[in-house]
Amino acid sequence: MSIIAQRIRQLHEEIPSGVSLVAVSKFHPADAIREAYNAGQRLFGESRVKEFVEKVEALPGDIKWHFIGHLQTNKVRKIIGKTALIESVDTEHLLKCIDTESEKAGVVTMVLMQVHVAREETKFGFTADELYQFFREHRYEQLKATHICGIMGMASNTDDEQRVRSDFEKIAEIYRTIRDDESLGLHGFDTLSMGMSGDWPIAVETGSNLIRIGTYIFGNRQY
Ligand SMILES: *Cc1c(COP(=O)(O)O)cnc(C)c1O
Repeated sequence: MSIIAQRIRQLHEEIPSGVSLVAVSKFHPADAIREAYNAGQRLFGESRVKEFVEKVEALPGDIKWHFIGHLQTNKVRKIIGKTALIESVDTEHLLKCIDTESEKAGVVTMVLMQVHVAREETKFGFTADELYQFFREHRYEQLKATHICGIMGMASNTDDEQRVRSDFEKIAEIYRTIRDDESLGLHGFDTLSMGMSGDWPIAVETGSNLIRIGTYIFGNRQY
């Protein structure tokens, strides 16, 4: 069995039920994805539009593709209709653009709102206050062809486990505060995407139900 297949099987054994695994295949060739696919993996994550589109076209149609990278508004159209979930909505402008393009294409696009709590590493995402305000003002009700399914976030890129845990706890609290606010009347707001190769066990402990793992499955990326 290939190392990729072994890692996929091992992760599916270790991950608690109720937590889904996105195999982050960015910068890895289609053949690597096929190895994971042959081991049963059907959910993959990509972060660059061109690579995303090429892989969607080249690989089996029963793969579910998540877009997880920073998305420029002028490229939104290229991926609409091809994503199971866009995890990385980091501005309202992008959200509106996704909505407009989805409506034009006659599809409903599922998205997560990316929240920013980590130190300097990820500059993308809403702050907690921006997100609370967005929901408190019911701005999501203007969306016609976009469904907000939850929150995505990253912890600081550090060996300091306490720091990572506290970042994840902050993200999880934002998620639960929005999810549990009955005055919002949200439906299908049930996804908390946190955790990567180095920190996913802590993410799951703190409430993640969607983890995004690249390096551990596919090895180091060649940028
Ligand atoms: C690349 C990437 C991952 C995967 O990170 P690894 O450390 O390789 O597991 C997860 N989430 C996002 C948003 C990414 O860009």
